[in-house]
Amino acid sequence: MKNLIQGQTGQWEVVIGLEVHAQAVSNAKLFSGASAVFGADPNTQVTFLDAGMPGMLPVLNKACVDQAIKTGLGMNSTINKVSVFDRKNYFYPDLPLGYQISQFYYPIVTGGYIDIDLENEVKRINITRLHLEQDAGKSTHDLHPSLSYIDFNRAGVALMEIVSEPEMRSSQEAMAYVKKLRSILRYLGTCDGNMEEGSLRVDANISLHQPGTPFGTRAEIKNVNSVRFLGQAIEYEIVRQLDIIESGGTVIQETRLFDPAKGVTRSMRSKEDAMDYRYFPDPDLRPLVLDEARIEAIRVTMPELPDAKRDRFIQEFSLTKYDANVLVAEKETADFYEEIVGFSKGHGSGKLIANWLIVEVFGAMNRDSKSIDDLPFEPQHLANLVDLIIDNTISGKIAKDVFSKMWETGKAPAQLIDELGLKQVSDTGVIEKTVDDVIAANASQVEQYRAGKEQVFGFLVGQVMKALQGKANPGVANEMLKKKLKATN
Ligand code: ADP
Ligand code: MG
Repeated sequence: MKNLIQGQTGQWEVVIGLEVHAQAVSNAKLFSGASAVFGADPNTQVTFLDAGMPGMLPVLNKACVDQAIKTGLGMNSTINKVSVFDRKNYFYPDLPLGYQISQFYYPIVTGGYIDIDLENEVKRINITRLHLEQDAGKSTHDLHPSLSYIDFNRAGVALMEIVSEPEMRSSQEAMAYVKKLRSILRYLGTCDGNMEEGSLRVDANISLHQPGTPFGTRAEIKNVNSVRFLGQAIEYEIVRQLDIIESGGTVIQETRLFDPAKGVTRSMRSKEDAMDYRYFPDPDLRPLVLDEARIEAIRVTMPELPDAKRDRFIQEFSLTKYDANVLVAEKETADFYEEIVGFSKGHGSGKLIANWLIVEVFGAMNRDSKSIDDLPFEPQHLANLVDLIIDNTISGKIAKDVFSKMWETGKAPAQLIDELGLKQVSDTGVIEKTVDDVIAANASQVEQYRAGKEQVFGFLVGQVMKALQGKANPGVANEMLKKKLKATN
């Protein structure tokens, strides 16, 4: 078995299940008409219902239900025709109602899976459920030494809580899962996936056991807001739990928080059991009943998802799986790639365009902190550049110089090649003359080559290229040099 951790008392397996809270893209909150847009002034997007005023009644926002259905379809899940909203009772200052409306006994979505991409394999992670629930408000404790502030803008915003089976076995798998889920949500347009703004938050449940024995007790790391922190939190937790178990202690079921500054997890509170919340069906809301027509209407709007797009890219453009995965991770990148391919003359340029995008364009984007929306060149110009390589107007090496100029000036490659005199020399007459000159000027190397020292060939080609300022068509130059060296042999 792989992925086992060697401890002092034997080998241990890490077990991880994730609960992801994904804010549904919607103009309004789950049960009120207040705006759900991030970043407004505190307490400017709060209705009486969100503030927990007595006598207010929740009205279910259909758009949020549709987002949950769409997300369920995107995870190959079962969409339940009947689901029920329950009250989850607890006290917290940022929860003015004294309960959160959630779905406990009958969630809207059950089952399904996500395939995650690991280094050498694809692993299927099963989904337990997706349910709809309200978000809480936000407390801030660091604005004043003795006061806490509460912002209710987030109170009542629609969350889709997506719960996985405990099927991940390492921090890498957990990170790959979150990346893939986020990618799918963005393709679907059901959650913007912005972890910094908190629209995607991860609770990681982690335990250790020895293979063949029942699962161990889990600790839950709450509200991790970056993929990198998730990896760090899990790694820390593995070491912490292993220490406890191997020194004869027991891991307690509790909620912990990750401190990114220190790289450690810290106990926040002991974990409540479901019964502590006294779940019961919310008497203000009827069961949510869906008919087949509504689900079908959403099914027909489903976009091509990352896995399907990757497989198509491999088929259509002969990309490697690795390159295809890089291009489809963000829908924007995949669209940009296809746009460029569309501008090229065809003739199988897809693979070369993928290389150029991944190596040169992404490289320059990283260097200059640019995104696809503010690139300094036109997409058709990259297609033109690749076309010019394919039709031998310029070599791949010269193309890199042209690309840097494109990046600097925004000019079209054909114009730059003209201005800079970079056109590749394929004229056999010119190349032949240069080859003759090189052979004449390097008699001793030519002799060595003819005596069987083949490595010298590279040197001679280099001389030809140098004489033509790197512009000789390498294929023609190679041929010609070989022919000439043989001829007098
Ligand atoms: P709660 O809301 O109490 O945390 P849930 O059932 O909603 O409970 O979520 C439990 C999560 O913990 C799921 O993602 C599940 O896969 C995971 N899980 C359950 N048991 C274990 C375990 N022994 N080790 C690690 N993860 C676990
Ligand atoms: Mg939990």
